[in-house]
Amino acid sequence: MADQIVLRNVTKIFTTKTLGDITAVDNFNISVHEGECFSFLGPSGCGKSTTLRMIAGFEDLTNGEIELCGKLVSSSEKKLYIPPEERGLGMVFQAFAVWPHMTVFDNVAFPLAIKKVNKSEIKTRVAEALKHTSLTGLEDVYPGELSGGQQQRIALARAIVTNPKVMLLDEPLSNLDPKLRETMRFEIKALQKKFGFTIIFVTHDQSEAMAISDRMMVCDMGKIMQIDTPENLYNHPNSRFVHNFLGESTFINVEVKGKKVYPVGSNQELKIAIPEGVTGKMVVATRPNEIELTTSSEDGYKSHIEKRIFLTDRTEYLVPVGEQMVKIQTPHRIRFNEQDGCYVKFIEPIWYPVDDAATEAERNKRQLI
Ligand code: ADP
Repeated sequence: MADQIVLRNVTKIFTTKTLGDITAVDNFNISVHEGECFSFLGPSGCGKSTTLRMIAGFEDLTNGEIELCGKLVSSSEKKLYIPPEERGLGMVFQAFAVWPHMTVFDNVAFPLAIKKVNKSEIKTRVAEALKHTSLTGLEDVYPGELSGGQQQRIALARAIVTNPKVMLLDEPLSNLDPKLRETMRFEIKALQKKFGFTIIFVTHDQSEAMAISDRMMVCDMGKIMQIDTPENLYNHPNSRFVHNFLGESTFINVEVKGKKVYPVGSNQELKIAIPEGVTGKMVVATRPNEIELTTSSEDGYKSHIEKRIFLTDRTEYLVPVGEQMVKIQTPHRIRFNEQDGCYVKFIEPIWYPVDDAATEAERNKRQLI
């Protein structure tokens, strides 16, 4: 499959008066295939929007180059910069709201009008775009008279009207309520199927990214942490950060002494396999639904139920393991009461080094800017 969006060694450094230089994007290498839905995911300040803005052409590059559909559009070395309107992209940006003073028709016709497309072709193409976004019949209405979902469809219609090969979507659903977000996700995927464009989707919402993406890039503090399919990222995160960012996580501080593992604050052994060469202070990570809660002492860690919480589709238990409270979720049929004794078994936990406090402080600083 051809690579339609390629970033090579792309770096962006912002120079600020108060904080000095900030490396917003640090040496990104990304290849997005034709027809793929590729998400940028990460906490606020990790560099998602800056990357998207560089692809769109709203931001120049400190270093590196970007290729779109086989054509170089930005290169720091060659001092090349193709402006956004010549990059052939469709865009739905959060900040690019629809224009309230223009009718639905004029909003959608706008990208064609500035390209001086003739009137009869504009009419045909706008009608087609409105049909695919379920807006037919609302041509003369002003956006203010429509719902949030319909307004977002205007933005989508405006993006597809030019028949782009690449669509950039920056948090396009963030103003909508959860139910509508889900509907719009399906609509975006259906449009993609129909028109075959490649999507870059920016979001900080992991479940949304998981639902919509073929592959995702998870970034943190201007660095790419991992690129993979949603399933691989969830099941095989390469760092504690990615583990924590995708779905609910439980981290237990442990110490490996000899061939035995002890949770911090406990001298009861935790019977889990130790990877080659691992020793000293470590973190063991798991998901709340990958911890077994039993009455069998075999290979289990003895504890008790501190708290039982009824959730609609499962029960959640809080169980102390060493000095930590571990969250365990089970089907309702596995029934324990508060203060009952129990045994805890960890199913294939993943091991990580202990996070250093400096990393956490840096991440928080970026989110405040
Ligand atoms: P995200 O989209 O993931 O929230 P951004 O790409 O907006 O992150 O920002 C990445 C980093 O770059 C942040 O630390 C942000 O403060 C900084 N940044 C973004 N735009 C500018 C700018 N115009 N001037 C200075 N710093 C900026």
